[in-house]
Amino acid sequence: MSRQHEILPSIGIIGGGVAGLVTAISLQDAGYDVHLYEKTEGLGKETCSWFAGGMIAPWCERDGADDLVRDRGVESLSWWAHHYDGVQQQGSLVLSAARDRSEILRFSRRTQQHETIDEARIAALEPALAGRFREGLFYPKESHLDPRFALPALEQHFLKAGGAVKRGYEVVADELKEDIIVDCRGFAARDDLPRLRGVRGEMIRIHSAEVNFTRPVRLLHPRQPVYIVPRAHGVLMVGATSIESDSHAPVTVRSAYDLLEAVQRLHPALGEANIIEVSAGVRPAYPDNLPDIEQKGRVIYANGLYRHGFLLSPWCARKVVELIGKQEGKAA
Ligand SMILES: Cc1cc2nc3c(=O)[nH]c(=O)nc-3n(C[C@H](O)[C@H](O)[C@H](O)COP(=O)(O)OP(=O)(O)OC[C@H]3O[C@@H](n4cnc5c(N)ncnc54)[C@H](O)[C@@H]3O)c2cc1C
Repeated sequence: MSRQHEILPSIGIIGGGVAGLVTAISLQDAGYDVHLYEKTEGLGKETCSWFAGGMIAPWCERDGADDLVRDRGVESLSWWAHHYDGVQQQGSLVLSAARDRSEILRFSRRTQQHETIDEARIAALEPALAGRFREGLFYPKESHLDPRFALPALEQHFLKAGGAVKRGYEVVADELKEDIIVDCRGFAARDDLPRLRGVRGEMIRIHSAEVNFTRPVRLLHPRQPVYIVPRAHGVLMVGATSIESDSHAPVTVRSAYDLLEAVQRLHPALGEANIIEVSAGVRPAYPDNLPDIEQKGRVIYANGLYRHGFLLSPWCARKVVELIGKQEGKAA
């Protein structure tokens, strides 16, 4: 519905990570005039979203998370499918070594929307794993994307629809002229949001000439679970640690060792893969590990996406749109 005849508040978004971009587009879809301010000149290093696996996995993520993560995450599948044509709708695969079968049983009890699959089906889905695992779980409705393509594509989508992006601007809300400011600075908003903490996530990108996958593969293990998300041209993203720390320091020897050891348990030939990147990001998290929308004056904070920035930013953005819509109603 066109809202051109209405006088709508102008919106400024601070932060061009996944939360900022998804919120910017959702507000634009609702008819608002939106300007986005991002401190980095180009996407990369300082943006937690750049290092993410990009798994949109509401059912798998129910393991170790609240029901709300699943329920709020399901809507993101259609959001992404409508706004980014690079989404891979291939499902997810969850495996464990035969001796860790209790892990698969536990995971299966805690999650829904999966099929228990045997060795032949595993081989049909992921030929590289033929003969390696007797049993697994397949989540056919889940999807994944590569953040390093998805984030620039979202920015282009926003620009083409008339949005304005100012890169290289490290701003504070007080200096912005828009009627409403949505603060999506991730962990950088810690000074304004004392409940926010950092959860460090380390990841490694490898290239294998021998082993590749079509969908995210999670290998359960009592101590060191690991996941691999396929990227283009034989690249695999291996993740991720989850450490209570807001350190942006380089990846530690212990974390790199643990992740790479786990990868070889998935397939020994991955021992021959080349390491092409080792990086760490700091996930912004609240004490309950759920995102939250909080308003102080004309500033709305959308933050706390923790391990679920791609999964939950469409829900978060919808809440921001509803909040702004309600305030317009009150003002009318
Ligand atoms: C290794 C790893 C794997 C992950 N895997 C997944 C996954 O598979 N699926 C999933 O859903 N989630 C995943 N996550 C979580 C996800 O990456 C985070 O939840 C998400 O990136 C948080 O996004 P954000 O936009 O809030 O913060 P950020 O991505 O950090 O974006 C904040 C932006 O604000 C900008 N900024 C800061 N201060 C200012 C300022 N003053 N002015 C202007 N701009 C400013 C920064 O430059 C940055 O670009 C993963 C995270 C990690 C680290």
